[in-house]
Amino acid sequence: MATAATLARLCARLARIPSSACRPVRSKPTYGYYSVTMPSRTVRLTGWGRISPSRAELAEPATVAGAARLLEISGSGRGLIARGLGRSYNNAAQCGGGVVISTARLNRILDLDPDTGLATCEAGVSLEQLMVAGLPAGWFVPVSPGTRQVTVGGAIAADVHGKNHHVAGSFARHVRSADIVLPGGELRTVTGQSDPGLFWATMGGMGLTGLIVRAVIQLKRVATARIRVDTVRTADIDETMAVLAEHDASFGYTVAWSDSLARGARLGRSVVTSGDFAEPADLPAADRADPFAFRPGARLGVPPPMPPGLINRYSVALANEAWYRRAPRSRQGELQTIGAFFHPLDAIRNWNRVYGPGGFRQYQYVVPFGQEATVRRSFELVSRARAASFVTVLKRFGEGDPGPLSFPAPGWTLALDMPARTGGLDRLLAALDRLVVDAGGRVYLAKDSRVPAGTLAEMYPRLEEFRKLRAGLDPDGMLASDLSRRLRL
Ligand SMILES: Cc1cc2nc3c(=O)[nH]c(=O)nc-3n(C[C@H](O)[C@H](O)[C@H](O)COP(=O)(O)OP(=O)(O)OC[C@H]3O[C@@H](n4cnc5c(N)ncnc54)[C@H](O)[C@@H]3O)c2cc1C
Repeated sequence: MATAATLARLCARLARIPSSACRPVRSKPTYGYYSVTMPSRTVRLTGWGRISPSRAELAEPATVAGAARLLEISGSGRGLIARGLGRSYNNAAQCGGGVVISTARLNRILDLDPDTGLATCEAGVSLEQLMVAGLPAGWFVPVSPGTRQVTVGGAIAADVHGKNHHVAGSFARHVRSADIVLPGGELRTVTGQSDPGLFWATMGGMGLTGLIVRAVIQLKRVATARIRVDTVRTADIDETMAVLAEHDASFGYTVAWSDSLARGARLGRSVVTSGDFAEPADLPAADRADPFAFRPGARLGVPPPMPPGLINRYSVALANEAWYRRAPRSRQGELQTIGAFFHPLDAIRNWNRVYGPGGFRQYQYVVPFGQEATVRRSFELVSRARAASFVTVLKRFGEGDPGPLSFPAPGWTLALDMPARTGGLDRLLAALDRLVVDAGGRVYLAKDSRVPAGTLAEMYPRLEEFRKLRAGLDPDGMLASDLSRRLRL
């Protein structure tokens, strides 16, 4: 097992680069969401779900050359993996006993063309940074997940999706090129045309093809920083699916927040919100002078430590009831801010702490269109198990990307999150796995924390293709994460 000495040795061999380019963490850092349990170079890391911690040496190269040097040195024992802002729910950005390369200091926007919306940035740039830089000139990120606290590197490596997947696809579709440091240290610029194999394996490849250090992203033109939102409260799962299908035809962004505990005639009742960016004329007169006003920043924080058991079937049932009743039966054209519409959870810093010390598991699947009975059945299983999913989101995906491990595919995607200590959770999720496999679906690698390797292989029929490409790129198995070891990616 690697120790702090591993990194010290590694840095010694990197004598040619300035020490600032490879700075091990010595004290509690102020960015990211990993916890450092002692003032040392060894850090204890978890994902956003705060489960499965592991220790690794953390390197924070400040230059591309410094990052490249880290990958030049093979045979560093347990391997290396990249880490952005640690917002994957699982251990995808951990490498127990090895080295984790944080992109926290590779965080410069190198160019943003106000005419074309092409942004050239380092991999550690967050989507929030891109919004702050792009909005004054009328540019927004092409795809935004439910948090803007993710890096460009993490968005590419997980090929993230947003509420506009049905029209815009996932993040990779908007990546014009990526600079990747391959195992061995070679820096290669790839596009979908120049090297489709490497390019697409990297899009959704969970950091296992190389370290993304820079990328060129095509941003999306918007006329204001507000969204015109229609809200519909649905009575049951059939109505929820019908409204989502109907709204996909007329809105750029759609999603349903569902009540996972509702049963019987209310099974799958939801609040569907759909919207598009507003035009300046839609804004109140007072806001027209500054149509791109955007004020990021969390308003509240969850203090540590939170007691265990706060999120349970009773508290979630109460919260679901209140939230469902508060939603209008139908409302049109409400103006919402970017934060309220895209990233409501970002308003509460460290909201993941509410699950208490046991953490939580996210589970997200996609099943093809035509498998509506599977969606209904999964709601039945969850509500029957009385498993409290605090955030339950249903959406329809459009066309997927060519990446062999890219998650989205045409069909229904359901995301659930539940306290890891929920009784019977393993059994419930194993039952969902079976439903998903039988329906020809799969789970999301940025969230999965427990699917057996054999089951994952059933879900991703092109896994072998990915493994072969990796074996060619990285014969020594230098790149590895806790996730890749468990799933034999
Ligand atoms: C509140 C919340 C809501 C979310 N909503 C969505 C959603 O709607 N849609 C969605 O798709 N996802 C969603 N996610 C998941 C999140 O978008 C992804 O997990 C994303 O990858 C996290 O980015 P990160 O920068 O934090 O990367 P990390 O979590 O640090 O890393 C994720 C993966 O990317 C790899 N990686 C990171 N940087 C690099 C790099 N420079 N080079 C190579 N590999 C790299 C890591 O090795 C790891 O495998 C959500 C997460 C949260 C916490």
